Amino acid sequence: MSDELGFSTRAIHAGQEADATTGAVVPAIYQVSTYKQDGIGGFRGGYEYSRSANPTRAALEECMAALEGGSRGFAFASGLAGQDTVARALLVPGDHVVVPSDAYGGTYRYFNKVAKPQGIDHSIARIGDVEAVRAAIVPGRTKMVWVETPTNPLLGIADIEAIAEVAHDAGAVLVVDNTFATAYLQNPLALGADIVTHSTTKYSGGHSDVVGGAVVTAKEIRVPGLEDAEDRIAFHQNSIGGVAGPFDSWLTLRGLKTLAVRMERHCDNAEKVVEFLQGHDGVSQILYPGLESHPNHDVAARQMKRFGGMVSFRMTRGEDAAVKTCGTVRLWTLGESLGGVESLIEHPARMTHASVAGTELEVPGDLIRLSVGIEDVDDLIADLREALDIHG
Ligand SMILES: *Cc1c(COP(=O)(O)O)cnc(C)c1O
Repeated sequence: MSDELGFSTRAIHAGQEADATTGAVVPAIYQVSTYKQDGIGGFRGGYEYSRSANPTRAALEECMAALEGGSRGFAFASGLAGQDTVARALLVPGDHVVVPSDAYGGTYRYFNKVAKPQGIDHSIARIGDVEAVRAAIVPGRTKMVWVETPTNPLLGIADIEAIAEVAHDAGAVLVVDNTFATAYLQNPLALGADIVTHSTTKYSGGHSDVVGGAVVTAKEIRVPGLEDAEDRIAFHQNSIGGVAGPFDSWLTLRGLKTLAVRMERHCDNAEKVVEFLQGHDGVSQILYPGLESHPNHDVAARQMKRFGGMVSFRMTRGEDAAVKTCGTVRLWTLGESLGGVESLIEHPARMTHASVAGTELEVPGDLIRLSVGIEDVDDLIADLREALDIHG
């Protein structure tokens, strides 16, 4: 589908033509494992076996590629299954990866506990600082720079365009985890990234009812030796098999149709929540890229359409106050994950980021992370106010 069409037009139509025989306007859930062949090797539409390809998954893959402005999309059973496939497809023992100091806990755990024992080591770099990324590169060995922006849970911002240049100068691919921003707010491929990954579990699915992942490759990858990244990822997706099932693909596609309107509301609500937090004594610091006080606000303003629905803040009275606040709110649901229509609150140090305690990625104990949903924002603020007035 043409890149010139608007975002929501692509979200609703890319990969989702009305069914040729019935006219159904929504892609069918092809709950099937195998396909009748018209004579040996006579595949209809290229479908042979559903690990290799399935029509519902193919619709999602085409839609994700269209939304990110990429060449090809791949859908996985989870965000991490997609990340693992990218790493296995592009790295071999002896290679080195630069990983952000503030990364999704599972991403760090993957590089530290899965990739490293298999001979792929990494260095940690403060991703908001381009020079720190450059310094972390090991000449000749760094084959991948991994970026998350905004980061989880500290809402750091990486300059994708500048880091793409640093990675490419070193002969490495730049992979951007675009889960927090989504394809609606930010398109890393247009800024020079080679590969985009998503946990579609979050905003892309958007309704807290499905776990999934997506990978999209750039139209052209010029990194020497990795020009065939797309084919390698396709080969590894089929050879490893961590694919998205038909029903999960269908749910994610349904979520994507409303991504733009949901993100606008997430951003509206987050901005109002930030405004409220700014006026409360119990809050010592607010981490939100939309604030001019954010160290990389200018970069965020340049590369994002708006600043997203994730807000983190620190409590003046420390960890105990943060833990109690999480336990006192009623409308905000205490839970991990993010990006659904309902608002979530969590304590990263003891929940999502407990696995990085004692490492370079440890997060402060007085930190609270909010995934601001799309409820009526006055209700969200009233509930937060009640808890902060007690514990702040
Ligand atoms: C959740 C998440 C992941 C992992 O995705 P899963 O779908 O849980 O496997 C990766 N990156 C970020 C930024 C995430 O929030």
